[in-house]
Amino acid sequence: MSEKILKYLHTHMDKQAAIKHMSHRTKIVATIGPACDTYEKLLELVQTGVNVFRLNFSHGTLEDKAVVIEHIRNINKTQPFNISILADLQGPKLRIGEIENNELLLKEGDILTFTNKKCIGNKERIYVSYPNLSDDIQIGNIILIDDGKIEVKVVDFTSEKDVKVEVIIGGILSSKKGINLPDTKISLPALTEKDLVDLDFIIEQKCDWVALSFVRSVKDIVILRSKLDERKSKTKIIAKIEKPEALNNIRDIVIESDAIMIARGDLGVELPVEKVPLIQRELIRKCLHRAKPVIVATQMMESMIDHVKPNRSEITDVANAVLEGADAVMLSGETAVGHHPSLVVETMRKIIMQVEQTEYRYNREYDLMPQPHSPSFLSDAICYNACKIARDVNADALIGMTQSGYTGFMLSSFRPSSPLYVFSKEKSLINQLSLSWGIRAFYYDEEESVDGIITDQINILKERGFLQPGNIVINTGSTPVSLHLPTNMIKITKVI
Ligand code: PEP
Repeated sequence: MSEKILKYLHTHMDKQAAIKHMSHRTKIVATIGPACDTYEKLLELVQTGVNVFRLNFSHGTLEDKAVVIEHIRNINKTQPFNISILADLQGPKLRIGEIENNELLLKEGDILTFTNKKCIGNKERIYVSYPNLSDDIQIGNIILIDDGKIEVKVVDFTSEKDVKVEVIIGGILSSKKGINLPDTKISLPALTEKDLVDLDFIIEQKCDWVALSFVRSVKDIVILRSKLDERKSKTKIIAKIEKPEALNNIRDIVIESDAIMIARGDLGVELPVEKVPLIQRELIRKCLHRAKPVIVATQMMESMIDHVKPNRSEITDVANAVLEGADAVMLSGETAVGHHPSLVVETMRKIIMQVEQTEYRYNREYDLMPQPHSPSFLSDAICYNACKIARDVNADALIGMTQSGYTGFMLSSFRPSSPLYVFSKEKSLINQLSLSWGIRAFYYDEEESVDGIITDQINILKERGFLQPGNIVINTGSTPVSLHLPTNMIKITKVI
């Protein structure tokens, strides 16, 4: 093996593990929590099929997160994987405060007061973490508590600017439950004080992705982008779609963000829950058109928090997300606090594989075509046709090169039938691309000649066990190499 190729190989190279990890093309995002936060458990989840770990900044300390990040980095250093780290900011999540004895029975017709002055909640008064509550809210507005399990309606304001509400749907209220105000335009900033502290940590730790919760308009993304740019951070942005306002501005939000998460938990509280399935399908379609990775999140395998088998409806939910073209499906409580984190990942992977191996129709449903009005039309056309040729000749590999990530995301968005390998000299992209459908990314920084680059890339894939003599490979690239132009060429090679 040449010195040059050796430079690009992991010292620890388990070919079988790497190939197995490549076999599901729709990626798996797993949320980290007490059920899986040791090095051994994280490694087990990766070996079972996790591509991206999500750190939920609504829970836990920064010290704990630093330890987990270190574990993931060690996995990436010593194993043949490029696991991505997704830091999920809490955003302007509203909550009630502590409740006396952690239990309060609310009955239909009860009248109580919501206040922004700290107090222990009881039948009279309940603290809400929203300083502008009485300015923003109007009589008749609905307030949903604990994912909509309890519903109250605003009926009056007190002289101290507190809010009187009537219970519409009762239940037992406990401390710190989340609240949603589907009728109210919330005036809180997109990044709270807590988010700004967390963002500092995320930038310092060079997390691959940062997810912004409760995005309302494209301005929210622009603000986060400017904070990242100020610090020259390469962390990419995921917009969490969970507010009705975001849906009204979705075109601009998709364009400005690097990826989208369909956060079905809050979305199903803020909107009539029966609207969520079609919103999911439409958002996936929009993201595919813009070559932006899209994650379907929340309650995908919820029953496996306790049980060893999922519900039939959960199996169909995961399968449908794959069929609709999601880049990734996400596990939350299932891996964070569930009893069977590894089993749930294994089960999810089996569902994905079953759909991908049988019914999955690559790039037909959406009939995606390169768009002539797009500024990147010419390189989009190369990517589109590279995928088409790869399918026509039943190629064993489709190889792309990228400096910004764009060619990788674009090739992936056409959902090519051939295995997709993306090479980049931009180190931050290698893990980031793990979120994207079908991509396996490699670091490579030589720039001698197109022929040399293609030969090296094929040799690297041969050494890793992904290619053999006789295989057909489609490469995209850019020539002349020294000019670093957008992708402008396609080559077919028979591996010798
Ligand atoms: C959701 O609401 O679906 C979601 C993913 O957000 P979080 O878990 O951060 O509340």
